[in-house]
Amino acid sequence: PIPLGSNFIRAIVDKDLEQGVYASRKWAGSPGDAAHQATGQPDPAKIRTRFPPEPNGYLHIGHAKSIFLNFGLARDYNGVCHMRFDDTNPEKESQEYVDSITDSVKWLGFGWEKTWPEGNKESSLYFASNYFDFMYRAAEALIENGHAYVDSQSAEEMRINRGTLTEAGKNSPWRDRTVAENLALFREMRDGKHADGSLILRSKIDMASPNINLRDPAIYRVRRAHHHNTGDKWCIYPMYTFAHPIEDALEQVTHSICTLEFEDQRPFYDWLLERLAEAGLLAHPLPKQYEFARLNLTYVVLSKRKLIQLVEEKHVSGWDDPRLPTLAGARRRGYVAEGFKLFTDRIGVSKADSWIDYSTFEDCMREVLNINAERRIAVLDPIKLVIDNYPENQVEDCFAPNHPLKPELGKRVVPLTRELWIEREDFMEVPSKGFFRLVPDGLVRLRYGYVVKCTSCEKDADGNVTVVHCEYLPDTKSGTPGSDSVKVKGNIHWVSAQHAYECEVRLYDRLFKEAHPGEGDRDFLTDINPNSVTVITAQLEPSLKDAKAEDSFQFERHGYFVADKKDSVAGKPVFNRTVTLKDAWQK
Ligand code: ATP
Ligand code: MG
Ligand code: MG
Repeated sequence: PIPLGSNFIRAIVDKDLEQGVYASRKWAGSPGDAAHQATGQPDPAKIRTRFPPEPNGYLHIGHAKSIFLNFGLARDYNGVCHMRFDDTNPEKESQEYVDSITDSVKWLGFGWEKTWPEGNKESSLYFASNYFDFMYRAAEALIENGHAYVDSQSAEEMRINRGTLTEAGKNSPWRDRTVAENLALFREMRDGKHADGSLILRSKIDMASPNINLRDPAIYRVRRAHHHNTGDKWCIYPMYTFAHPIEDALEQVTHSICTLEFEDQRPFYDWLLERLAEAGLLAHPLPKQYEFARLNLTYVVLSKRKLIQLVEEKHVSGWDDPRLPTLAGARRRGYVAEGFKLFTDRIGVSKADSWIDYSTFEDCMREVLNINAERRIAVLDPIKLVIDNYPENQVEDCFAPNHPLKPELGKRVVPLTRELWIEREDFMEVPSKGFFRLVPDGLVRLRYGYVVKCTSCEKDADGNVTVVHCEYLPDTKSGTPGSDSVKVKGNIHWVSAQHAYECEVRLYDRLFKEAHPGEGDRDFLTDINPNSVTVITAQLEPSLKDAKAEDSFQFERHGYFVADKKDSVAGKPVFNRTVTLKDAWQK
């Protein structure tokens, strides 16, 4: 049986450490080739993992699973997790994405600066594009050893000759070019002598392999494109499946963990690294790839293409819109890093694909916020309550606990005055059965204050209640002796009208109304929830005026709210609803 908090990958790491598989590694302080490694010291890191996003979009909740897995393994096994930007594809990558990814990983609580007990400092932030020179050299070595050739077939011919699952592929007519010819052509590709797409460098493996990924996969293509790191230095770029194993090997990664769709690429990963070790460019022990099931979450889309579409077509306000499942959006929404940790622990890591219900994610956030968030009072849909027998200019202190589970956090003062704001739904002129709040002639407790008796109400021309009148019972103040001599069933919250902080509050709901947006041939955009945000003007207790951006609170009886990171200014925060107290989507 796998112990709690464990998973199959941890079992593999345990076994590798026990057998000393990676004990002989050398670490020269920065990625290098075999010669470089030979000059290194024994690696102080027991294991090396990596989190390798491509900087072509913002990170999302799915990436958090990979972040907690990779950084979590390194933390728990006295290893290092490399923060690596997989930026070998020149298009669609940008500094904005690099910055947002960096921010999000740090926000989740991870970093890449480490000081070893001997005092050596290690920074493990890497950019794969820094290895282009090595990758080029590796490609030439494959050619020299007869493991790669330049193909002149068109993309269409290559596709046809690749074969199918049931039919072997056909060798390219260019497969038997000599080493000298291949080397000359590849250098011409590098030197800009050939048009984009006209020639391609392919590995020479087996066109009859039952694994289509081993039918001479492409490793370098001609592509005239500006690269955000290397500028116009290169007009040939390595393919992802060629670049990624090399990145892992140069960085001395031990356990390279990726999602299941790369399972069929593993034989090529191993093939390539073995060939480069034979050529003397890499040293054993080589990294090994392991696959786990990606996170699939209901009510959201996690595909970069769809997220980009939502942002570019302005269905949301930007990458950090609080309704998006991006980590930047989640942060503005008020979801917290500790909640992500709880969530990733709870869903675990396995090799079986499955769907996780969005409510599981929200429950984790509720659980963490319930412990961490102080309580405050907010009236979201205000109507006036006038205590007619309360002196007009009197201000009286009432005391509200900051956290029912943490008495050590103390109490704060909330002022009580003659005119208050209460919640519209806390008054019913004609009560329905089981309604125990404010009703004509009924008694209710003003939470942390007095028991009041409702006397009458005023309405506007349309019959909407605008003001409720009541009288208070002077001997019933909460926390005073005998305060509970009058028994009431209802208890409502309120804020002093004179002191209230009138404030913009955004009530967010799910961005999609369907559990599987775009299922079947539906356009996913048609599944957008038209009521995913409601902006209201609320009356908040005065202390909330001092809230700082990103402070989270439970607004009693309503849910968890956060001072918006972007739109809050000092002394004038605006609030986003993170999650309601209970799940309103439970069917
Ligand atoms: P692309 O849409 O460009 O293929 P990607 O989803 O593969 O993007 P990357 O930026 O390449 O995103 O991902 C970085 C890492 O995050 C990868 O190692 C990948 O395995 C992991 N990852 C991405 N999506 C998920 C997910 N839904 N669940 C778990 N891990 C994920
Ligand atoms: Mg990817
Ligand atoms: Mg993807």
